[in-house]
Amino acid sequence: MRLQKVLSGAGVASRRAAEDLIDQGRVSVDGEVVREQGKRVDPDNVVIHVDGVRVIVREDRVYLALNKPRGVHSTMDDDRGRPCVGDYLRERVDKLFHVGRLDAETEGLLLLTNDGDLAHRLMHPSFEVAKTYLAEVPGPVARDIGKRLRDGVTLEDGPARVDSFRMVDNYAGKALVEVVLHEGRKHIVRRLLEEVGHPVLKLVRTQIGDVRLGNQRPGSLRALSRPEVGSLF
Ligand code: URA
Repeated sequence: MRLQKVLSGAGVASRRAAEDLIDQGRVSVDGEVVREQGKRVDPDNVVIHVDGVRVIVREDRVYLALNKPRGVHSTMDDDRGRPCVGDYLRERVDKLFHVGRLDAETEGLLLLTNDGDLAHRLMHPSFEVAKTYLAEVPGPVARDIGKRLRDGVTLEDGPARVDSFRMVDNYAGKALVEVVLHEGRKHIVRRLLEEVGHPVLKLVRTQIGDVRLGNQRPGSLRALSRPEVGSLF
């Protein structure tokens, strides 16, 4: 974005007056005085001062939870015309992206934001946000499966483990199990359960950190509450 536009957007001055401030050497970006008109900056990633006073770029952050339906791809656009997350956004918010992915066949909680810092943090392996999944698997499930998954198993790309495992329902042909884990390797829940003999029939992500899917309808979006957003930082 052009510097004078960022300054006017932040309410510092009109576009014209912002150009004058730049001409007069009164504007600095990341500590360097800028005299060039039209300099492009990323308002989310620079520190701007006018006359030594920090400019607060107007906050316009969006944090949404989507209950992604089964069969929908975790992309904003699909060049093959397949159903994708972008189809569920009535208003196009600039630079909105999904935080991580769910397999097309997996349903449930997917976060969307235009806050690049948060998206980056949540996707970084060192940022340990717990994710909870409910999986329907062929049953019955042996009693020691939870222990095996908590102790860890070896997958083709290395060891993996869950933080917790809970049997929700275990009936003749099928079982419903809940797993909580921190990592986000591709197909990780499906691969973990398959490794212990229970290929997943249906998978739903029900929670990320303190953000719960609850009874949000498939395909619906909701804004996160302030405490929910706060819990992700
Ligand atoms: N693990 C999976 O196997 N699939 C997902 O979509 C998410 C986690």
